[in-house]
Amino acid sequence: MKQDYYEILGVTKNASAAEIKKAYRKKAVQYHPDKNPGDAKAEENFKKAAEAYEVLSDADKKARYDQFGHAAFEGGGGFGGGGMNMDDIFSQFGDIFGSAFGGGGGFGGFGGGGGQRRVKGSNLRIRVKLTLEEVANGVEKKVKVRRKVQADGVTYKTCGTCGGRGQVTKITNTILGRMQTAAACNACGGSGQIIDKRPSDADGQGLKVAEETVSINIPAGVEEGMQLKVPNKGNEAPGNGVPGDLLVAIETLDHATLKREGDNLHYDLYISISEAVLGTSKEIDSVGGQVRIKLEAGIQSGKILRLRGKGISSLNGYGSGDLLVHVNVWTPKELNKEQKEFFEKMQSNENFTPNPEKSDKSFFEKVKDMFS
Ligand SMILES: [Zn+2]
Repeated sequence: MKQDYYEILGVTKNASAAEIKKAYRKKAVQYHPDKNPGDAKAEENFKKAAEAYEVLSDADKKARYDQFGHAAFEGGGGFGGGGMNMDDIFSQFGDIFGSAFGGGGGFGGFGGGGGQRRVKGSNLRIRVKLTLEEVANGVEKKVKVRRKVQADGVTYKTCGTCGGRGQVTKITNTILGRMQTAAACNACGGSGQIIDKRPSDADGQGLKVAEETVSINIPAGVEEGMQLKVPNKGNEAPGNGVPGDLLVAIETLDHATLKREGDNLHYDLYISISEAVLGTSKEIDSVGGQVRIKLEAGIQSGKILRLRGKGISSLNGYGSGDLLVHVNVWTPKELNKEQKEFFEKMQSNENFTPNPEKSDKSFFEKVKDMFS
């Protein structure tokens, strides 16, 4: 059962907007995280008060709350059940307390379990081009990456300005009395460490650019435009910071004969009239190399042969798509005298009269089947 918003702020239902604001200020000061370091109960009360104020300070939300209680904000109408986060709360503070709070954002050390913030190196971005075969089967790619690393022999020491905390505390006099706020240390950029010994080949942060071969495991089934992340293979950070990530954008190359559609592949096969009449076997491309398929005598143009599991392995690991072979019977455009006479003779022959069976599905039915 959620606690009543009026009760949280300690005001009556008839309280004026000014009284609500005043009550909230009092609670915010009382439970402010900088006044109650490491006190989870205070943090909870701080958040509760902020949520209550968020609703009761807004005429529309207040009216809904007065009518329906907490139910007014359930089911996507309010806070999504997650309450407010600290950034939301501090961003309201400009309204409540004036600019003394600097619009929040200075609480770098908060919410991280009280530990020191570790600086992260910047991310690097590369593109890799994959053939259809590589997409189908997955591949390990080795790429050369130029990344910033800590130079040999560089050493760091604790920042004297912040004593290694990475943030500095400011005491500000506000209308509510003395308030303590925290901001990232300018001297060390928040890392808590500054450079001690800098080798001649290092930049101001003790870093230098080095070329490294990184191997990237690309799973089967990726698609154009996807992005993979190789953790910690971006630029290193100075001191005890953590490296950034290597972000890999996937580009796919067109295949000469195979077209991809989801996890399925399509192949257009052309056969001659005599091959269609007499039957034949053909080698066709697949992502696993050439495969031989058999075409029965009397095969119709437009027939689609489905080679199960010869498509792309599914990215989520569940099975593979199929290879769909579209049969096209090639009609000759030129005939010699003898051939012409043969076909003229056959025109009235009943074997040459179209007589589709029930099993010879129409084009539209085949398309429907393919997608079902
Ligand atoms: Zn510092």
